[in-house]
Amino acid sequence: MTSPIVRFAPSPTGRIHIGNARVALFNFLFAAANLGRFALRFDDTDFARSSEEFARGIEIDLAWLGIVPHEVFRQSERVALYADAANRLQRSGRLYPCYETQEELDKRRKMQQARGLPPVYDRAALRLSASDRAALEAEGRQPHWRFRLEPGVAEWNDLVRGPAHIDCSALSDPVLIREDGSFLYTLPSVVDDIDMRITHVIRGEDHVTNTAVQLQLIGALAPHAPAPIFAHHNLLIGAGGEALSKRTGSLSIASLREDGYEPLAVAALATLTGSSDNVHAVRSLGELAQSFNLSHVSRNPARFDPADLETLTHRTLALYDYDDVRERLEALTIVGRKAEPLWRAARGNLARFDDILTWWRVVDAEIEPIREDESFLQDAAQLLPSEPWDETTWAAWTSDIKTATGRKGKALFHPLRLALTGAESGPELASLLPLIGHAKALARLVGVRE
Ligand code: GLU
Repeated sequence: MTSPIVRFAPSPTGRIHIGNARVALFNFLFAAANLGRFALRFDDTDFARSSEEFARGIEIDLAWLGIVPHEVFRQSERVALYADAANRLQRSGRLYPCYETQEELDKRRKMQQARGLPPVYDRAALRLSASDRAALEAEGRQPHWRFRLEPGVAEWNDLVRGPAHIDCSALSDPVLIREDGSFLYTLPSVVDDIDMRITHVIRGEDHVTNTAVQLQLIGALAPHAPAPIFAHHNLLIGAGGEALSKRTGSLSIASLREDGYEPLAVAALATLTGSSDNVHAVRSLGELAQSFNLSHVSRNPARFDPADLETLTHRTLALYDYDDVRERLEALTIVGRKAEPLWRAARGNLARFDDILTWWRVVDAEIEPIREDESFLQDAAQLLPSEPWDETTWAAWTSDIKTATGRKGKALFHPLRLALTGAESGPELASLLPLIGHAKALARLVGVRE
């Protein structure tokens, strides 16, 4: 395959949710796996609903997931190109002015439905003469503009759905330009896909019908350019089967970040849900890209259960090496010689990244020990070996305590854990003890301030 160029084209009318992020990830991983390029293109020609703030927010959300685009475009800055394409379509007779109001169209549709006809636009405007149009405009009506579809079946080989075809005679001529002169999504999208030499359009299956229209537009505007390859993936639905919506903020990337989930857990779950691949934790997006394959995406809706993020976050953290998280630890002021061994000891015990702070306090600060069984703890303190300590110290020490007190199993280990860490459970004490060190261990056992 020649190097692919893909795009993620959100409208900046809200923050992105996990379903939008999934589209971005599919494109990004596809580009990464095939040494291609990924463009972020803001579909912001709907000036009333789009905002620069949402656009910035989307870039932040993508960066959090590890997605950094090669290029960023804004359609609002490219309107001249769309106007030029519209002129060309007009000149070739494919774009025609229409004057119906929404109420008139609704009424016509109802009549068609009552007669059992498909609610397809009847092209009445094509039969208007120049003087009819002049009269309508004199009434104060502004035209909206429709693209005249050719009859016939649009066909393509979809990378997810296989051979796909749509009968264009069953579609209304789509409106490309509104009464106020602004462009709907369709024309700018095609103009940009041609101009940016997009090779693969990977998007949700809610766009399948658009593809039939867009293939005709590509044919009309760039008959000699190769059409992109299309892939329409299944849509993500919530655990209760509900559709996700950008406007309601459901499962927004920003809220998942605030909840402390790992970005790679979110990325892995968003990518692997609804595919034939098992959902599993990964150490990098590169690793996810290696196993990513559009043909593994299922045709059924993909049910996303946020509860899975708990386990996946826990498993993702357990996979990280110290170097993967060094900077994040530094940001929590977890530095120095204990930082790396602590990470290795505790990474398998974290529900959230910040939980590492709990264990950092255990080895580097004062804690509130839980002191049950005072006399046993005194005995254990007596037997505490002198430093230097290493990972064998715990076994040697507890074996001495066992011999001296006759205790074994939970009765032996649990009071020690409670006193040394102040917690019921946690990382292996063999790893923690040398990091806690003699002075702190002794103070916690005998109950003096550290
Ligand atoms: N702005 C469109 C959307 O968010 C883009 C669709 C496409 O990828 O062409 O659904």
